[in-house]
Amino acid sequence: MFSEENFQDREIVCSDCGQTFVFTAEEQEFYSQKGFEEPKRCKACRNAKKMQNRKKRLRFDMRYEITCSDCGTQTTVPFKPREDKPVYCSDCYKKHQQAHVTQE
Ligand SMILES: [Zn+2]
Ligand SMILES: [Zn+2]
Repeated sequence: MFSEENFQDREIVCSDCGQTFVFTAEEQEFYSQKGFEEPKRCKACRNAKKMQNRKKRLRFDMRYEITCSDCGTQTTVPFKPREDKPVYCSDCYKKHQQAHVTQE
């Protein structure tokens, strides 16, 4: 495939989103050392794929693990938690919802 000491940055078109991404010389070296095949997808799509695989494993219970921002309980929620927002366990969520309702 590649000669060991002659890796060059290559552009690959992502098979998922069609965007071009750079498969850097460094990455190529790493992949070749590990015996991996070259990537077909950009990083974003690879991450998405990883998430999908994780979801597949949890397909009977598609939930995200969270730590409640309020009481610190570890629990799962049926939606993807946003990093810029606090996420609560169901009890605290109810509490906060009620708090909002009474405020309004
Ligand atoms: Zn992509
Ligand atoms: Zn909580």
